[in-house]
Amino acid sequence: MSKIRTCAVCKSEMAEASVEYPYWHDDALVALVNDVPSWVCLLCGHRYFEPAVETTLRHIVNDYIKLGSTFPIPTTPYRPVHSLLN
Ligand SMILES: [Zn+2]
Repeated sequence: MSKIRTCAVCKSEMAEASVEYPYWHDDALVALVNDVPSWVCLLCGHRYFEPAVETTLRHIVNDYIKLGSTFPIPTTPYRPVHSLLN
């Protein structure tokens, strides 16, 4: 059984979901990491990343920056987290 998490904002139940993690530097989107495991609140959409996941994300983003492969994406199709649950 997986453990149940409750939302830090509204105390509702959270569900496991894979989300896109956009990394912003000032106004520029420098990296978009796909399929990041996270917890998403079923009520308010608040996202929570496990500490290990956050550490991994930081490494991924640092690698992007080191390689110079930042890719400015002019318009980012923003997808509300709620749509991930349907
Ligand atoms: Zn919530």
